[in-house]
Amino acid sequence: MSCTTCSTKTTTLADYASPNALTWCPGCGNFGIQVALKQALVALGVTPHQAMLCYDIGCNGNGSDKIGGYRFHGLHGRVIPLAAGIACANKNLTVVMEAGDGATFGEGINHLAHAVRANFNITFICHNNENYGLTKGQASATTRKDIPMNSSPDGVTSDPVHAQRFVLSLGVSFSARVFSGDIRGMNTIFQAAMKHPGFSFVEVLQNCPSYNKTTPHEWYQQRVYNVATEGYDPSDRAAALAAAEDVDEKIATGIIFQDPHSVPFMSRDAVRKDIPTELTQEVQQYDVSQFTAGMR
Ligand code: SF4
Ligand code: MG
Repeated sequence: MSCTTCSTKTTTLADYASPNALTWCPGCGNFGIQVALKQALVALGVTPHQAMLCYDIGCNGNGSDKIGGYRFHGLHGRVIPLAAGIACANKNLTVVMEAGDGATFGEGINHLAHAVRANFNITFICHNNENYGLTKGQASATTRKDIPMNSSPDGVTSDPVHAQRFVLSLGVSFSARVFSGDIRGMNTIFQAAMKHPGFSFVEVLQNCPSYNKTTPHEWYQQRVYNVATEGYDPSDRAAALAAAEDVDEKIATGIIFQDPHSVPFMSRDAVRKDIPTELTQEVQQYDVSQFTAGMR
């Protein structure tokens, strides 16, 4: 697809290139996730100026300056409200946000709960490597019970948060699970998530070779399967809960649940009904010079 506003040029992977070198550890799942995201954006014909890529703090966030386009690197656990504000201000943007399991189910779990309820039109790529990798392997809310980590050498004593059970119980309109070693699968799911009108939660089972020795790349490779190969109906929420439950032996990936009748937050707001402009256009009508006097 070509860009409709600035040229007729076809979007390519080069449009999302960055001159900055990637700094992730060798073998990290982040490499594949970033490649798949770029591929998905290009496949959908989304140009860099039509996308807003938002990043939380963490190893995933360290990729924020290693990809082209408009990007926002927020505070720890706070990427969801940032992305939600952007999505509400301009519905024409494709808003993607990335965060780790620590930020998502620790510092930012409150934001996740309410973003799911609101059904903001955002694609959320949750890097679930079951630890705080950036700060050197502390246990997170998704670390498995009894697993020793740097902050808990005798093992974690609490049960982990089950990512899919959590979002499905809140009524999420789109939930998927993918494996960071499956770039083609991630590409497909990221495209479906970006096309979905509403909050699209994509849990990436991400390997972290430096600190997560419990579920390495090979461990997932031997256990994941795609629900689409089993005549699965992703519109059945009860079936989705059952399919997503196993995270130990036979692990479901693909679109776990999708509400075919999803209506995103800004399309439900009666105040905005029949208004053709975006908030980003309307704010330009206000004279704010009195507030900026003296500012350079
Ligand atoms: Fe990747 Fe883990 Fe290294 Fe972070 S610490 S870059 S998640 S391998
Ligand atoms: Mg993590």
